Amino acid sequence: MGQDVQPERNAIREHMIIDGKPVSESQGPTIPVYDPATGQVIAHQPEAGTQGVDLAVRAARQALEQGEWGKMLPAQRERLLLRLADLVEANADELARLETLNNGKLLFFSYGLEVAASAQWLRYMAGWATKISGELLSPSIAFPPGINYHAYTRQEPVGVVGAIVPWNFPLLMAVWKIAPAIAAGCTVVLKPAEETPLTAIRLAELALEAGFPAGVINVITGRGESTGAALTAHPDVNKISFTGSTEVGKLIGHQAINDMKRMSLELGGKSPVVIMDDCDVDMAIQGAANAIFFNQGQVCTAGSRLFVQKGIYERVVQGVADLASSMTLGSGFEQSTQIAPLISARHQQRVQNYIEAGRQQGGRMLAGEGARPEQGYFVRPTVFADVAPDARIMREEIFGPVVVATPFDTEAQALALANDTDFGLGASVWSQDLARVQRLTAGIKAGTVWVNTHNMLDPSMPFGGYKQSGLGREHGRAAVEAYLETKSVCMAYPAA
Ligand code: NAD
Repeated sequence: MGQDVQPERNAIREHMIIDGKPVSESQGPTIPVYDPATGQVIAHQPEAGTQGVDLAVRAARQALEQGEWGKMLPAQRERLLLRLADLVEANADELARLETLNNGKLLFFSYGLEVAASAQWLRYMAGWATKISGELLSPSIAFPPGINYHAYTRQEPVGVVGAIVPWNFPLLMAVWKIAPAIAAGCTVVLKPAEETPLTAIRLAELALEAGFPAGVINVITGRGESTGAALTAHPDVNKISFTGSTEVGKLIGHQAINDMKRMSLELGGKSPVVIMDDCDVDMAIQGAANAIFFNQGQVCTAGSRLFVQKGIYERVVQGVADLASSMTLGSGFEQSTQIAPLISARHQQRVQNYIEAGRQQGGRMLAGEGARPEQGYFVRPTVFADVAPDARIMREEIFGPVVVATPFDTEAQALALANDTDFGLGASVWSQDLARVQRLTAGIKAGTVWVNTHNMLDPSMPFGGYKQSGLGREHGRAAVEAYLETKSVCMAYPAA
């Protein structure tokens, strides 16, 4: 195939980017990377291992402390991020198609989210580089007598950041880590998920093209339990910024506390969609379906628990099930496709096991039966009604296109059901009644509550989890602050 026909194939790199250079040495067996729509291997990536991690962390440390990076003015960092945003857009075809090839997702979302939103996030965070400032303080203790104090704070980059991201939004997640860290003046070692390393490597190449000095943005590849763990445990990493499962987040958190590393954890969810009987019902049906089936349900804020007020329960649940049953499964490259493959054979099996558990635990299955493409890791969009509160599919994060629906009578019941979970990442409320909306948005324990929409994110909106959904916030000012250390400077001078 020629370059114009499949630009994504020409964008495959089977190396890491460390200190501005391609590095292919693998510590142990290389990692096969698959096309989820066909199950074919499209690349082999090196396993960085402890040696690769050490090389990358040294490069990041050197860039921070001995290279030009540490001396750059905030406006220069801003300009570099803006140039990178331009290059992401200039290479949109290649990046979007590469993401669909590697992750399987609809090309429409690869363009609209992975590429366009990444550029938008880079630009937004670029603006913060020049707005980081300390405070002028007013010390009030005059001791010993005759001495005055002048004090202020400095905001300094936290240092070398180890960033570990999952496979569901590979390019966007990489940008969510890199952009604020760079705005703050840090250097980064990023480890993408072993399933989806390809766009992150291209991003690191584009960063070099944009003019970032070698060693500022390093991308290493490898498995979580080896390379990810080695990055987490490296003594010269100052901060770990992790997005992934709650289970791995806890392991990382323990290690970070042990070393007193700074950490941000963006973890799993089991987000409620609460539909009140005064809502625009057709809009809510479509919204509830989008909330769970977008990206095949492989979204940390997927609306996987659907709570509907009794008067409209059957209509809404049947409406979501009808939409689910009508969806076309296929390759993310096909324009007619609405449900693309899941990320891997293993994940497909995991989701199918949950569906089986749902059947066995007595859920009423309204959608999910039917044919699937023979090749590729497909799961049909699935709707269960009347699921018991303690059923596994009600409590555990499935991370696939499976929703469980439950009726409720009163607002108080809706709130109790919505909060009956260990997680607290996202939620949505569907209602036209402002007073109800105010009470529910205040009562739901989640980092983001949407009203008459779901899964809408913006670089200006802080994002993160209550409860077991994480620690810290990304986006907005909070994202940049998470990559800064505060230093107090106190100067003494004689009173007279
Ligand atoms: P995962 O936790 O298995 O893996 C995430 C990353 O961690 C990968 O890069 C993996 O290689 C690495 N990793 C695995 N074990 C590790 C270890 N012991 N030490 C260090 N690194 C390790 O998660 P996943 O299956 O890739 O992604 C799905 C999960 O991510 C879901 O739970 C989802 O909710 C969550 N997620 C959360 C957010 C958020 O912003 N809160 C966003 C997207 C996904």
